[in-house]
Amino acid sequence: MNGKRVLILGGGTAGWITANLMATHWQDKGFDITLVESPDIGIIGVGEGSTPPLKHFMDVIGVDEREWMAECKATYKTGITFKDWSIKPGFTDYFHPFLSQPDQFSAPAFFHNSHLRRNGVDLEGHPNHFFLATELARQKLAPIAPPNFPFEINYGYHFDSSLLGKFLARVAARKGVKYIQATLQEVVLGDDGSINSLKMRDGQQLSADIYVDCTGFNSELLQKALKVPFISCADILFNDSAVVFPTPQQEQIEVQTMATALKYGWAWKIPLTHRNGNGYVYSSRFCDKDKAETEFRTHLNLLDSDIEARHLKFKVGRVAEQWHKNCLAVGLAQGFIEPLEATALDMVQETVARFIEAYNNGNYSDQYRQEFNNRINLRFDAVRDYIVCHYRISSRTDTDYWIENGRNEKISNSLRSILTSWMQGKNITDELERQKLDAYFPNVSWSCLLAGKGIYPTQAQLKPGNELAHQYDLNNIHRYIQGCALNFKPHMEQLAMLEKAAIKAA
Ligand SMILES: Cc1cc2nc3c(=O)[nH]c(=O)nc-3n(C[C@H](O)[C@H](O)[C@H](O)COP(=O)(O)OP(=O)(O)OC[C@H]3O[C@@H](n4cnc5c(N)ncnc54)[C@H](O)[C@@H]3O)c2cc1C
Repeated sequence: MNGKRVLILGGGTAGWITANLMATHWQDKGFDITLVESPDIGIIGVGEGSTPPLKHFMDVIGVDEREWMAECKATYKTGITFKDWSIKPGFTDYFHPFLSQPDQFSAPAFFHNSHLRRNGVDLEGHPNHFFLATELARQKLAPIAPPNFPFEINYGYHFDSSLLGKFLARVAARKGVKYIQATLQEVVLGDDGSINSLKMRDGQQLSADIYVDCTGFNSELLQKALKVPFISCADILFNDSAVVFPTPQQEQIEVQTMATALKYGWAWKIPLTHRNGNGYVYSSRFCDKDKAETEFRTHLNLLDSDIEARHLKFKVGRVAEQWHKNCLAVGLAQGFIEPLEATALDMVQETVARFIEAYNNGNYSDQYRQEFNNRINLRFDAVRDYIVCHYRISSRTDTDYWIENGRNEKISNSLRSILTSWMQGKNITDELERQKLDAYFPNVSWSCLLAGKGIYPTQAQLKPGNELAHQYDLNNIHRYIQGCALNFKPHMEQLAMLEKAAIKAA
């Protein structure tokens, strides 16, 4: 394969992740990669929670935690607590854990209990009792296992997104990525409808073989210039706005994101080493900006504070094709579901990795492009349905917002079948496999979501069950999980070690 010129337009997290992945995977193939960023149009500046694949990205580009975490004010994340999404007694909150190898000994008990509870047996079916990540979050322990602990541990991170962008820009420069500051003025199209060149406001004309649109919600190349349609999912995901505040960090830093349901949406709390990031994601159809800000200030005890709020608008959905002609869209330019499961950067990584694979295999052939687009679209839709499920199964009825979410009949057939299978007490792995969805959110994720919100028969409908039903002793499971947790250091201690390593390296 001959080297090509790649032009990435946009220097937000998506642009810099793309630049680093391409520079790493194509390092010996003679590719010439340039990232162009406007000096006048800022990055979105939110998006500070990740899923475990971000660690894989850092490993692939050859960056150690000691190099980036302290600089980006990063902390560890073992999962997310969803609080107040349900009003069912005993199920008002649950923890969505990132699964690790030690869970293979306790997860079967969760599946067993949850399956039988759905079928009317009175067994403990709340996910909070069965996973190591939940215990690490409860005790504020860093998910870093010592060398003599023979299991792999999965975890994500929280980080300051603008600092991460700056850090990744330096790594990309080391890998030979060129950097230009300029604002796009006009996209020049060729006769075949592909991009010929970009005219910039400063008079430069830039051309390349592959154009990557990382211009965020502007989507200057794919949506505006190439007119690829945007498929909105606002009819099933109502949120379109956010109000954001930083608050001071506490003495003990959490290893989890908090996602607390409020009257017209939900609020995130993301712990960084120097501050907490807080945001209230809500629907402007049900609540105006001032009302949202007041509710959020009350929630954060900031009613009398003069900390200024930042208000954002966003659109939910995805483009019809992420790769069209000679242009690939990555990041917010390709679509956005909503931040509830912090999946956006995972989508960025997956899009770029699959694009590189498709390009290496088939160059610009239609077959590979089509396969790639189908694959990424399926991923978007799978994430969308998982997130829609959070709203659809919520038992809150305190506002029109929650009532309308709870009776939304526009959900996809795919989600409807998963919910039916759960309600009928079936093994939902079969349904996920039938729909080929197990690669996105596996059974354990769906089970935690549905069990965690108490989607079970009512207590009055449950029967005691026989000895076989009670084959797992919860005390043994607690002992096992707490024994595993003894191997992990306090989060603060692990962060202090990273800080020390950064000072030493400076
Ligand atoms: C409320 C909210 C919360 C979120 N929370 C999470 C989360 O917890 N986890 C997660 O993974 N993701 C989250 N996301 C998504 C995340 O913010 C983005 O996926 C991520 O920041 C990548 O953004 P981006 O690089 O695509 O766009 P941006 O950060 O907007 O960057 C756009 C870039 O394009 C450039 N640009 C734009 N127009 C032009 C032009 N005309 N000429 C030249 N350059 C131009 C800008 O200068 C900028 O460099 C959240 C998003 C929102 C809205």
